[in-house]
Amino acid sequence: MNIFKPEPTDYILEKALAGERISPAEALELYNTADPLKVIAAARETRNRIHKPSVVTYTMFRIINYTNYCKVKCSFCSFHKPEESESSKVLSVEEILDKMRRAAAIGADQMFFQGGINPNIPFDYYLDVLHAVKSTLGKHIHIRAFSPVELMEMQRQTHLPLREVVRKLKRAGMDSVPGAGAEILSDRVRAILSPAKVSVSEWVQAMETCHEENLPGSANIVIGSVEKPEEIIEHLKIVRDLQDRTGGFLAFIPWTFQRQTDKFPIRDVSAQEYLKLLGICRLFFDNISHIEASILVLGTGTGSIALLSGADDISSVVIEENVLESHSPATEEKTREFIKNSGFTPKKRDLFYNYKD
Ligand code: SF4
Repeated sequence: MNIFKPEPTDYILEKALAGERISPAEALELYNTADPLKVIAAARETRNRIHKPSVVTYTMFRIINYTNYCKVKCSFCSFHKPEESESSKVLSVEEILDKMRRAAAIGADQMFFQGGINPNIPFDYYLDVLHAVKSTLGKHIHIRAFSPVELMEMQRQTHLPLREVVRKLKRAGMDSVPGAGAEILSDRVRAILSPAKVSVSEWVQAMETCHEENLPGSANIVIGSVEKPEEIIEHLKIVRDLQDRTGGFLAFIPWTFQRQTDKFPIRDVSAQEYLKLLGICRLFFDNISHIEASILVLGTGTGSIALLSGADDISSVVIEENVLESHSPATEEKTREFIKNSGFTPKKRDLFYNYKD
C-alpha cells in the first residue's frame, strides 16, 4: 500500500536516495513544497545507510564563558553585558582551571571556550589559558574554542595575518573550532540582526583558515527570524561548498532562535518546519557525516522525532554550573535515558565520533 500521493518533488528524494547530489534549487523546492513526512523518511533512510541505525551518540563538555562583555551586541543575545556593568567579567586563568577540573572530575574531557568580543583582553590571555589547560589537565583534554567572530577580533587586535593567529592558538592547545556565530549566513539578515558581527565572507574565511590548519569543527544554522527560505538554502550551500574545499566540518547542527530579548524579530518555528529542515540537511550534506539535533533547544518531544528524521547525534551534554555544584551525573544519565526511551542505544563519543563506551 502506498500511502504517499505522488508529488513533483519526489524525483529529488529519489535522486538523493540514489546517492546523487541535490542542488540548492532542489533543496529549496523541498523546503517550500514537499511533504515533510516524505522528506524525513528519505532523510532517515539516508542516515541509516551512513550510521548504525540503532545507535545515537552524545558527548559531554563544559562551556567556559571567559568573558561576558561584548562589543558586538547582537539583537538576539542576552548573554552580553555592557563594559560598565557590575556583572561584566573576565575569568582569570586560575578560575578557568578550577571550573575545568570540576568538570573533568565528572567525566567531561571536552572544554568549550566561548566569550563575548572583548577588545580589552590581550591576545596573550588566550594563549596563556590554552597553555595552562593542556599543561595542568593533560593533553587528552580537547579544547574547542573561539568562533570565527572571536578569531576575527584577535586578528584585528594583533594585526597579524589570520593564519598566524590560528597557528599560534593551535600551538598553544586549541584543538577544534565551534560553529558559533553563523546564525544565518546572509549579509541582509546579519545587517538586521547583528550588524556589528563578522560578515558572511569573514565567517567563511575564518572557518576555511581553521580547517586548512587542521582544526576541524562543526557548522550551525539558526532559523526563526526574518530569514527567507532562499536564505536558509543559501546558508546550506555556503557550508557545503566550503566543506567541498576543506572537509573540516564533522557535523551540522540546525537550531532555532530562542526568545532571549525583545530587541529582534522572532517567529515561531513549528516542529514540522524544524524537522523538515533537519531532513533536508541530511539529504543536502552528502559531504558532512553527522547531523546533530539539540534536545536542549528542541525539548525531548521534538528531539525524539528528530532522531527519526535524519539526526544521529543529540549534540552535547553541556555541563552546567549547577550540575557541578551538586556533583550530580544526572545530566548524562538523563541523556542516556532519553536516547533509550526514543528507541536507540546511547553511545558516548569523543569529538571525532569514536565510541567511548
Ligand atoms: S557576538 Fe556573541 S556574545 Fe556578542 S552579542 Fe553576539 S551572540 Fe552575544
